[in-house]
Amino acid sequence: MIETILVPIDISETEAGATALKLARDLAKTYGSKIVLLNVVEQLPGYVASQLPAGLEEKTRTDAVNRLQEIARENEVAETAQTVVRQGHPSTEILEHAKESGAEMIVIASHDPGLADYFLGSVAARVVRHAHCSVLVTRKLDL
Ligand code: ADP
Repeated sequence: MIETILVPIDISETEAGATALKLARDLAKTYGSKIVLLNVVEQLPGYVASQLPAGLEEKTRTDAVNRLQEIARENEVAETAQTVVRQGHPSTEILEHAKESGAEMIVIASHDPGLADYFLGSVAARVVRHAHCSVLVTRKLDL
């Protein structure tokens, strides 16, 4: 049973996210799952945040929600996917959201290991290491 599939999306790097989302979409069709698209807006240190114009944080959040909804439409999951924006450290918030929502699976993209010294990027690596649910790591695929 896979009721919820969590797909974390870095909105500054949507090509990798789209691959993950297409795989999640096909899994969701097979298992009748709900997809949750999650973007984490990184929290600025208080001394920086206090210098920013009023309303900027709210605007960043609204922009992230709009972009997630656009990505959902582009990948044909708009009807069924829920979009969530959280603030904080990406891996911590992804893990926390997976726990809180009871997600049975996380589908997350990672770079090709040939392109960097690390086997997985830091966000994907922490999610694989600490998640209590299944984690599917995707690499570039033509879907
Ligand atoms: P790399 O792209 O180098 O493998 P990462 O491990 O940092 O690096 O990122 C891989 C994946 O982690 C992204 O494709 C995305 O699924 C997730 N991710 C990274 N940053 C965020 C973020 N701010 N919000 C949501 N998901 C994120």
